[in-house]
Amino acid sequence: MKRTLGSLVKNTGFHYEFESRGYSKGSAKDCVPSAWLLGKYLAKGLINRATGRLELDYAEMYLTTHCSLQCRDCAVLVPYLKKRRHFSKESLLKDMDRFLQSVNYVHRFGLVGGEPLLHPDLPDLIRYLSGHPAVGTIRIPTNSTVLPGPELIDALKSSPDVLLSISEYPIELCPKRPRLIDLLERNGIEYEVYAGQAWDDLGACSSAYKEGVTEEELALRFSNCWMRECHGVLEGRFYLCGRAAFAPLAGIHDAFPEDGVDLYGVEDAKGVRRAISDLMNKPYLRACAYCRGTSSGKRIAPAIQVGAE
Ligand code: SF4
Repeated sequence: MKRTLGSLVKNTGFHYEFESRGYSKGSAKDCVPSAWLLGKYLAKGLINRATGRLELDYAEMYLTTHCSLQCRDCAVLVPYLKKRRHFSKESLLKDMDRFLQSVNYVHRFGLVGGEPLLHPDLPDLIRYLSGHPAVGTIRIPTNSTVLPGPELIDALKSSPDVLLSISEYPIELCPKRPRLIDLLERNGIEYEVYAGQAWDDLGACSSAYKEGVTEEELALRFSNCWMRECHGVLEGRFYLCGRAAFAPLAGIHDAFPEDGVDLYGVEDAKGVRRAISDLMNKPYLRACAYCRGTSSGKRIAPAIQVGAE
């Protein structure tokens, strides 16, 4: 029952409003308003299904594969990529346009990397997305190794729907963090410090997890993996999870066209929307065979650097 209700309010934005109102604390006084909120979003979920409206709780765009850290257990395998580059502003804006025409609404949109603050056109990308009618809020995760310049500060100041999310990795790796926080404070820019992280171990950059896995095991791995909600757009393709997007670029396996949607593969945005919905209804991805998923229970310290062990 709980699972059915959860799937009905998925991709409606329920989760974010529930959290922001503090209902997740489970206080007795919140029982009635949280039940009311659930009812409201259940109705929204049912209407979306009936009308074919596609909303996503979360989607991100990969701006760059450059990073100032080399995290051994990076979910999107950045240290192991054969080629590093910033994606061009033109291609990113084109993909954003096409993607946002295809889905009806993205409640939280991530601008991610690598380290997104390294991208020279980040200010323009923020200005384009901020206030976009198909976007709720914008989240930019940063490892706090890069201090924003005046242009980025200006773009952030004039974009109240952007939140900078600072990962609290060991301070020896990110000694600029106090200066970054001070800079954001002085300029009145919204940020959060994401403390106490533990990462899920998706497995090493290898094809070792492929051996002997059955379809049933794959379906279970996929359905219990939270990364499958971490949708992203990379070079004109939509993926359910970043691992599936990047594993071929790290040489773990061949590209599996059926694991993503070519945003330009059909003529109209409606066709893309249908293809994304079909992808979301798959029992698992082919990429899941090469990955441990997030449900193995194996948690690891964040940001262990390649070669540090
Ligand atoms: S198990 Fe599948 S959905 Fe989960 S991270 Fe791996 S490839 Fe992505």
